[in-house]
Amino acid sequence: MKASQFFISTFKEAPADAEVVSHQLMMRAGLIKRLGAGIYNYMPMGLRVIRKVEAIVREEMNRAGAVEVSMPVVQPAELWQETGRFEKMGDELLRIQDRHGRDFVIQPTSEEVVTDIARQELRSHKQLPKNLYQIQTKFRDERRPRFGLMRGREFIMKDAYSFDKSRDAAQLSYQNMRATYQRIFDRFGLSYRAVRADSGAIGGDLSEEFQVIASTGEDAIVYCPASDYAANLEKAEALAPTGTRPAAALALTQTATPGKSTCPDVAELLGVALSTTVKSLVLATDELDDKGILVKSHVWLLLLRGDHDMNEIKVAKVPGLDAGFRFATQAEIETHFGCKPGYLGPLNLLQPVTLVVDRDVAVMGDWICGANVEGFHMTGVNWGRDLPEPALVADLRNVVAGDLSPDGKGVLAIERGIEVGHVFYLGDKYSKAMNATFLGDNGKPAFFEMGCYGIGITRLPAAAIEQNHDERGIIWPDAIAPFTVVLCPIGMARSEAVQATAGGLYDALIALGVDVILDDRDERLGAMLADWELIGVPHRVVISDRGLKEGTVEYQHRRETEASKVAQDGILDHLK
Ligand code: ATP
Ligand code: MG
Ligand code: MG
Ligand code: MG
Repeated sequence: MKASQFFISTFKEAPADAEVVSHQLMMRAGLIKRLGAGIYNYMPMGLRVIRKVEAIVREEMNRAGAVEVSMPVVQPAELWQETGRFEKMGDELLRIQDRHGRDFVIQPTSEEVVTDIARQELRSHKQLPKNLYQIQTKFRDERRPRFGLMRGREFIMKDAYSFDKSRDAAQLSYQNMRATYQRIFDRFGLSYRAVRADSGAIGGDLSEEFQVIASTGEDAIVYCPASDYAANLEKAEALAPTGTRPAAALALTQTATPGKSTCPDVAELLGVALSTTVKSLVLATDELDDKGILVKSHVWLLLLRGDHDMNEIKVAKVPGLDAGFRFATQAEIETHFGCKPGYLGPLNLLQPVTLVVDRDVAVMGDWICGANVEGFHMTGVNWGRDLPEPALVADLRNVVAGDLSPDGKGVLAIERGIEVGHVFYLGDKYSKAMNATFLGDNGKPAFFEMGCYGIGITRLPAAAIEQNHDERGIIWPDAIAPFTVVLCPIGMARSEAVQATAGGLYDALIALGVDVILDDRDERLGAMLADWELIGVPHRVVISDRGLKEGTVEYQHRRETEASKVAQDGILDHLK
């Protein structure tokens, strides 16, 4: 590809609503373009990344014996009424009507349609097992679409559905998919963890999430460094022995003005907490000196109880701080959220903890909190901030995770993750609801045993960026880079030698099947290099007259800070 023909649009600044680094960099590098809340154009540069993610997923799914299919984005409501999800899915499900007033949904996932295919097409146990998958557009009317492709409303998902004749066979299909997911996520070159997740109404343990580790992740992962135990926070709590322990951990840092520490949004926080069924939260406030440098973080574990009515939520004043917290009244919460808190219990200050952070952390960001969809938990992160997570996490580990040890092998630790995949054993939940049967080997009809397996195709690049970036921009792992090599000729229009060398190298790389882009835009060197560092192409070759005179070109990996000279006739081997 030649840059002059391709579509490149980079920006110095990210839009104000881009709160996390992946969103900022994706916008600045011109990978995506916003069309509406949670709705994005995948621009040519971004689409190349998405297609690479899809290709890896497709290859491994095919290798695992799954079969690709494509189900309509717009689906008749009747099927969704059969399972009851037309009503049950609530506001996340986008419902539309056609000109005749018939109801349809835009698929958020496709259990109903795939089960409908199975009940018509898979008649005998001899046709099983089958695993059907698609890579398709999904729509979920998320309550808080945010962070760009991380939580979009329209997004691309790989969703797979397995059909088996027995529970045992379904578990094999599940394990096959789990192993396939490991192969897929290994190939992306990201650091991730498979964690146990709640399988909700189905029960059992056969539900795992694949979480890319990132301090900005919306999910909290609880793991044991001494064993292979790993679960998301909900699951960890479900497994933990009962007793007084927080139902949710909320790490919260407020926007603070130097010299003061105020928490003007505590009303909002508590409003969210009370509108869900959160029972307790961990609150962290920062104390800054007059230069805005973090002096201390105060972490509070607050327990909300639902015993009494109360007109005022009292949040304790933080000792040593001028402003402390202000009080939030029930009326304020109602005005703010337009919802009546289900209960307002007295807020007991259970255990104040003071953390002393002695690092120079100057950047303060807004705090953001997010409620779990199921409404059971809230977890929150401070997205806008640079460093304090480890200190906070270290403390959360004591107050939150310390009292959970489900396998008895050690104290648990907490880290943050981004859910990029989910494998789920469904049993006969959908086949029963939709009367989907096959003829068993005993000649009798039986319900399919099912599993479903999702990967967030468009969320994955965002997760990759959260894990791989620096102050100059994105650093793509080779496997999903929009281009693996960029050739940057200096003064190509004026130098025949540069033009010939760049052209020759370009042709040779194309012939080798390398995904190369030749920057023939004749940009200033500084601007050209800044573009490619922002876009994050992992391998760069600069070709200049000066170098050619001594028979060299300059090679630099995106992770390196300096270029190295490589003999002109050795560069091809170097890149291979
Ligand atoms: P989340 O907990 O983040 O809302 P989910 O559990 O609702 O995700 P699943 O139903 O398990 O999502 O869907 C499978 C995969 O689809 C998820 O693991 C995630 O990677 C991706 N995904 C889900 N919702 C979104 C979204 N709004 N934007 C982008 N990707 C998403
Ligand atoms: Mg969701
Ligand atoms: Mg989830
Ligand atoms: Mg999930």
